[in-house]
Amino acid sequence: MSAPIEAGAAAAPASVTVLAGPTAVGKGTVSASIRARYPQIWLSVSATTRLPRRGEVDGVHYHFVSEDEFTRLVETDQMLEWAVVHGRHRYGTPRAPVIRAVEEGHPVLLEIDLAGARQVRETLPEARFVFLAPPDWDTLVSRLLGRGTETAEERERRLATARVELAAESEFDVTIVNDRVERATDELAALLGVHDLT
Ligand code: 5GP
Repeated sequence: MSAPIEAGAAAAPASVTVLAGPTAVGKGTVSASIRARYPQIWLSVSATTRLPRRGEVDGVHYHFVSEDEFTRLVETDQMLEWAVVHGRHRYGTPRAPVIRAVEEGHPVLLEIDLAGARQVRETLPEARFVFLAPPDWDTLVSRLLGRGTETAEERERRLATARVELAAESEFDVTIVNDRVERATDELAALLGVHDLT
């Protein structure tokens, strides 16, 4: 088992890093970029009850599981954290592979939602918590509202959620601004103590 990170050892790479942030800030894009460019980082593969999208591979992007299987994983305490995301599907981090990766000495990254990050804060307080922030409010709004096809009510609901999510920044140890994916990826990798091999 790698040594626990002492309080105040901010410069030392923590064994587990949690990446969270508001909806549509680009967490998925940054973690895809990490996966492609920094294979030294062990990226947790979440379980989810949603169906795969085109191009998603079971066991690589997610473990796609049934509702019953997800319930079994939760009830047998196999999830480090889990949450219902966007009021629809359940997503969770299987605990055993994370522990194994830490024991093997890999820098571990969890890309999860805010509710999940708060649970990890309780169960794994020595983890490092990174908030991925938009460069500014207008950028987040345009990413959130996309093609502008939503109703006024839906639009207001998404903006209200975004305001609440942005306010969570103060709960985190570090903020990375997602102004450019490549740059944000490099900053995150450096935080994990990993450098580009290319
Ligand atoms: P998507 O369905 O677009 O791949 O992901 C939707 C959301 O689920 C993203 O905000 C992502 O951070 C979150 N998510 C993915 N995996 C997990 C997980 O294991 N736990 C939690 N709490 N959220 C997750």
